[in-house]
Amino acid sequence: MSYIDNIRKCVPYTPGEQPQRKVIKLNTNECPYPPSPEVEKVFKSFDTEALRKYPDPVCKDLVHSIAEYYGLKDEEVFVGVGSDDVLSMCFLTFFAGKKPVIFPDITYSFYDVWADVYRIPYEQIPLKEDFSLDPEDYIGRENGGIVIANPNAPTGVLESLDAIERIVKANPDSMVIVDEAYIDFGGETAIPLISKYENVIITRTMSKSRALAGLRVGYAFGNAKAIKYLNDVKFSVNSYTMNMPALAAGKAAIEDDVYFKDITSRVINTREWTKEQLRSLGFTFRDSMTNFVFATSETVVNRDGSMKAVFEGLKEKDIYVRFFDKPILKNYLRISIGTDEEMRAFIDALKPMLP
Ligand code: PMP
Repeated sequence: MSYIDNIRKCVPYTPGEQPQRKVIKLNTNECPYPPSPEVEKVFKSFDTEALRKYPDPVCKDLVHSIAEYYGLKDEEVFVGVGSDDVLSMCFLTFFAGKKPVIFPDITYSFYDVWADVYRIPYEQIPLKEDFSLDPEDYIGRENGGIVIANPNAPTGVLESLDAIERIVKANPDSMVIVDEAYIDFGGETAIPLISKYENVIITRTMSKSRALAGLRVGYAFGNAKAIKYLNDVKFSVNSYTMNMPALAAGKAAIEDDVYFKDITSRVINTREWTKEQLRSLGFTFRDSMTNFVFATSETVVNRDGSMKAVFEGLKEKDIYVRFFDKPILKNYLRISIGTDEEMRAFIDALKPMLP
């Protein structure tokens, strides 16, 4: 017997690389534009003297601004340190039963990591061949909870609100977490469901469409009772999750709707341009409704056996995209949408590597 036997062992999530020098970075779905100028103002006028005190544990002002923006009550909003923190708290709060939590086999690869670290039993349900989800797979199947990323990552596939509602409605005894990290890039949100069903939580992030990945601000919507349960767990782990600059800058970001709409529409336009270019180079992909494209090239896969060589070739040219070295995913590259200039450089670098 040694202390090793008492350790909570786990296989951690592998985040995308964050090279500390200037590269064309299309590997972690960040926003290629800076955050709102209102965020900059917050930092420039931030009173560092205030840091000697603890931040507001209930994050009242940020919660209120988010609630107001989405037309919800403050009691229906939860905030955390990026949506990873929010999702992790959701797993800890809502998945304490014995039945397996279910989610797709191809989805955000943090879900199984949280399930493992919290000792939550889970089952992964295969997506259809075209990477879409069959709502029937989530109906009439015993489960202790459901997680659906919509649009899904890394596939980019969007499910209809109708499909999400059918799943929520058919599982009144399970909490359904809908991870809407990428919903601002063209999807229909499940927010209307929270006033109709008690068993749904929607998670969001400021990391993608609000250009604040470095600040770590995530949030969730749900009915007041569910949000209270979530806060009870949060206050049982760490009361002061959000630091003062994040609270203030997150509020400034949510309130600058004009800037938000401008950068998301720019990303969407560049995404559509990138899709056309990739298509003309023989790539295929599902119709992404996110700020990335998950694409494969049959000719490359036939030549190389996977997309790994192209991924590495791009990296040599200082262009970072994401490659998942797993059986179902290795034939794909996940390419985040950068600026027009970055995407042109990416396409130009890609061309000579193709068969
Ligand atoms: N959900 C999905 C589907 C994601 O891809 C990401 C980004 N890795 C997150 C949640 C977490 O984002 P963040 O913690 O930056 O809010």
